[in-house]
Amino acid sequence: MAKSVLISRGLSPEALTIIPRDVTVDLNGHEQPLSRQELLARLRGKQGLICQITDTVDDEVLATPGLQVVSNVAVGYNNIDVDAARRRGVVVTNTPDVLTETTADFAWALLMAAARRVVEADRYARSGEWKAWQWDLLWGADVHAKTLGIVGFGRIGRAVARRALGFGMRVLYHDTVRSAPEVERELKATYVDKDTLLREADFVSLHVLLSAETRHLIDERALRGMKRTAVLVNAARGPIVDEAALARALSERWIAAAGLDVFEEEPKIHPGLLPLTNVVMAPHIASASLDTRVAMSTLAVKNCLAVLDGKAPLTPVT
Ligand code: NAP
Repeated sequence: MAKSVLISRGLSPEALTIIPRDVTVDLNGHEQPLSRQELLARLRGKQGLICQITDTVDDEVLATPGLQVVSNVAVGYNNIDVDAARRRGVVVTNTPDVLTETTADFAWALLMAAARRVVEADRYARSGEWKAWQWDLLWGADVHAKTLGIVGFGRIGRAVARRALGFGMRVLYHDTVRSAPEVERELKATYVDKDTLLREADFVSLHVLLSAETRHLIDERALRGMKRTAVLVNAARGPIVDEAALARALSERWIAAAGLDVFEEEPKIHPGLLPLTNVVMAPHIASASLDTRVAMSTLAVKNCLAVLDGKAPLTPVT
């Protein structure tokens, strides 16, 4: 039987070229995500959905007759009701690994920018206010030889740790499961409980997935448990941090600074964060390099095609 796929939002064009001619593609070529009604309507009669994190794939969407596969173009899949998919026999796939290094690079970009006040410095340099070299201008915090705390020591968390080796940092990590001794040795990383990590780290970088357990993992209590000089980095998912509490923590200086790629109610940002100079913010672009976008798109298409072909997908969500 001929197969049809809905692509909810533009992919890298390279990925579209691997779709065989006998698969019909319905592509939303617009910048905006499909409305819920459009998504439900256009999915009718399709066996595959290739979607983005802005698409909410709940039980109603998964109930589309004949739907076989939901292929998310992201490693995180908190936009998909995976339990409902399992009940309905719909395969869910994601795009791990191909974005690990790019996302780790960006977590580091936020860390460095927040520590060394790069965005403030850029604004100042452009402002015309710079009249002469100044001894006490824009002092920041050292990164090298400090303590980095990584919460969530999976693919991206470990890639962030690997970069810390070059900065001569002490690395602490917390995860649900302790890593194998050879991993700890290679990355010179020490397993600690979350409270110890928050208490001792100069930099705390979050790399857990978003789940019921990790929602507001960093709340007021956690923020108050950090050093007053600490920098928090979140390139994972917004709701892992209580954004209102973070805005207070930054304005009242419970912690020194933050670097954020993700927010609780994207694209809205808590108004308390907007006027603060000690937070560096980005519009959810940690995996947004040219090469990685192509790799994510290609993997998502391959996953979808494999399931439609009756084969096992490359990277199923289990
Ligand atoms: P991963 O390999 O699955 O790593 C996540 C780690 O977090 C796992 O080791 C997991 O342990 C651990 N974890 C789960 N719950 C925890 C908890 N309560 N406390 C401590 N650790 C916990 O995933 P990844 O590929 O590194 O990606 C991590 C997340 O980054 C994704 O889920 C996604 O949301 C986010 N991300 C964001 C961007 C962006 O553009 N900003 C880009 C890529 C990824 P278990 O395996 O034992 O559960």
